[in-house]
Amino acid sequence: MKDLVLAENGKSLAIILVAQDAIAPERTAARELAAYLGKVTGTEFGIVTEGKQKSTPEAGQTLIAVGATHYARDMDINASLLGPEHWFMRRKANVLVLAGGRPRGTLYAVYHFLEDVVGVHWWSAWAEHVPDKPTLTIGPLDRHGEPVFAQRAMAYTAAFSQDPRSAARNRINFHYCWPIPSEYGGESKYGPPNFCHTFCFYLPPTDALFKQHPEWFLMDADGKRKRFDEVQENQLCLSNQAMREVFLAKLKDNINKSRNDPVPPIYFDVSPNDSPRFCQCEACQAVVKAKGGADAGLLLDFLNYLADHIQDEHPEIILGTLAYLNTEAVPRHIKARSNVAIRLCNTRSNYLEPIPANGPFARLLSGWAKIADKVMVWDYHSSFCDMAAPMPLEHTFQPDLQLFLRHNVVSTLNDYRYPMHDELFDFRMWVLVKLHEDPYQDVEPLIETFLNGFYGPAAPHVRDYLHTAEEASRAKPSAFNPGSTMAALRYLDVPFLRQAQALFVQAEAAVKDSPVLVQRVRHARMGVDKATVVLFPKLYREWIEGGNKPDDIPFDREQIAERIKQTYDEQWALRVDAHEPGPSGREIREYQRRDFLDSIATALRRTLVIVARPKKFAELPDDAYFQYAADAFGHTREGTEVVEVEEAESGIANRSVLTDAEIKAMTHPLRLDLHDHTKRATGHEPTIESIKMEDIAGSGYHWYQLGTYAPG
Ligand SMILES: [Zn+2]
Repeated sequence: MKDLVLAENGKSLAIILVAQDAIAPERTAARELAAYLGKVTGTEFGIVTEGKQKSTPEAGQTLIAVGATHYARDMDINASLLGPEHWFMRRKANVLVLAGGRPRGTLYAVYHFLEDVVGVHWWSAWAEHVPDKPTLTIGPLDRHGEPVFAQRAMAYTAAFSQDPRSAARNRINFHYCWPIPSEYGGESKYGPPNFCHTFCFYLPPTDALFKQHPEWFLMDADGKRKRFDEVQENQLCLSNQAMREVFLAKLKDNINKSRNDPVPPIYFDVSPNDSPRFCQCEACQAVVKAKGGADAGLLLDFLNYLADHIQDEHPEIILGTLAYLNTEAVPRHIKARSNVAIRLCNTRSNYLEPIPANGPFARLLSGWAKIADKVMVWDYHSSFCDMAAPMPLEHTFQPDLQLFLRHNVVSTLNDYRYPMHDELFDFRMWVLVKLHEDPYQDVEPLIETFLNGFYGPAAPHVRDYLHTAEEASRAKPSAFNPGSTMAALRYLDVPFLRQAQALFVQAEAAVKDSPVLVQRVRHARMGVDKATVVLFPKLYREWIEGGNKPDDIPFDREQIAERIKQTYDEQWALRVDAHEPGPSGREIREYQRRDFLDSIATALRRTLVIVARPKKFAELPDDAYFQYAADAFGHTREGTEVVEVEEAESGIANRSVLTDAEIKAMTHPLRLDLHDHTKRATGHEPTIESIKMEDIAGSGYHWYQLGTYAPG
């Protein structure tokens, strides 16, 4: 087959055809195709409508038929028989068909064509790559595909920014913060009233309702029906038949009123309020007992009741619920109906390793997959306590997504949420998003494509950095989850950070003539920079203990802090100022900025002292001893500072000046809790121990034992 010529020396040789009855996203697909082919070739591409204008190509001309045209049907691509995102690109003679199912198949066909064939890339909401090809030809083409996860969601704070087009272009079909408009394919979203914790939306615990139907609300252990001021503390009596009927009527109402939306929602959440309490009445507890003692048995019994009553009228609807807190444990003697989806949260797995096949989360997933055809995972990748931690975690994406796929997962929500702060966010997000379409594809070409395209001549050095980080983290395995701080990353030591900084010096030198690329490299470096500043006291000790002179330490923390601020300003201008996120979006970002820059300022104030290992631990091997000296604490109290104190064995202490009233009100001298993040979450992870007033031996410095805990 002869190559198809779309443009020659900047002259367009193709016309784009859309069907007369094309839906909005198919018209968008044609416009996007014309716009990007225009940018690539430097010329204009016209769009004509089938049946209204001439739709047969002339000799030497190419026709690109977008969506459900007769050309698509002639090539056996029938929109009505295809899944909502199934896309095709197929060529016969001088006709190229880009089409697919509705509503998003045709749009995805065009985006795949532009990306996989023409070479356009949407790195993020803030950066794209458009190749320069005044002559554009294509060879034989016959490809099709469909993303394997039906719902691909990105979390909250602007993973792809408030500009939802970049989400659509990268085939993300759900964006929690900024809805993807229907002309860009709309979303695989939740219908009303909300995407989780919906009991209180259906039956709000108002005075009036509670007075009229106390039996619809939970019974406490004391045998009384209860209502709580905090709305999310309430739960329903799930075995109550009258309540079930009212709930069902409201659910049907929510479904019916959304059927005429341009892209009608298919997921409806029916999940408990955000509290682990459950009804203790005899009838509810009988169900719990019959289902192996699991609260989820009662919840699922309720969901199955609703599912059975909507199935005939709305076979497309899926009811989602939460296996979370008290409903996480898998019930026995019950299966979820095929139109019920169970959502799990993966908050406790270590970010730095693929989810272990025999670990708690995989076991949970496997337990649920045995009784549910549809499982959804809310998966975390960000730290909420210490942003910008250098973490090589891209190697976990593929095995984790494959694990999900083997366990009936139809939807993943990636809670990877800080485009300004999370290390190499653009890179990792892009790779992650691509793997959501097909987690069995080869990852290496994806990594190469992004690094070469986004960092240009700096790519080999960024690549070296990724290798170095991965090797370092393998050599000193660490555990990290949403509540961790950089102190947990054992590989962040002098040799690693020194090498990482050197690699970024080379990376920056390689792109010194391009201000855009320099900014990207500096942003990639921000995690390493922040780690160097935040961990400086530890690095300093390590340096001196290695027999080196203090002044020779290879990091200038003041200078690095300046670079962080400059990088932050550059990224702020790009990602926030240039995108007008609206007052509330701006407020969240302002808050994050203060928080981030404060953490740098606080780190710069840390004293540099050598804290010798206490004598009583002298014999412990290095990996059994972890030092958390006074200068490693975060201070919530204004005015608390680290001071040098001779009597303290470490030589430093935290000093707070308290008022008499504060001393009187005190129940803890210093609250020091150990939390176990690997155990089942209850919302307040178990506190292993804290110091009580009666434990205090008197004034001065003493040793206290906070209990024994085996990590892992
Ligand atoms: Zn009950």
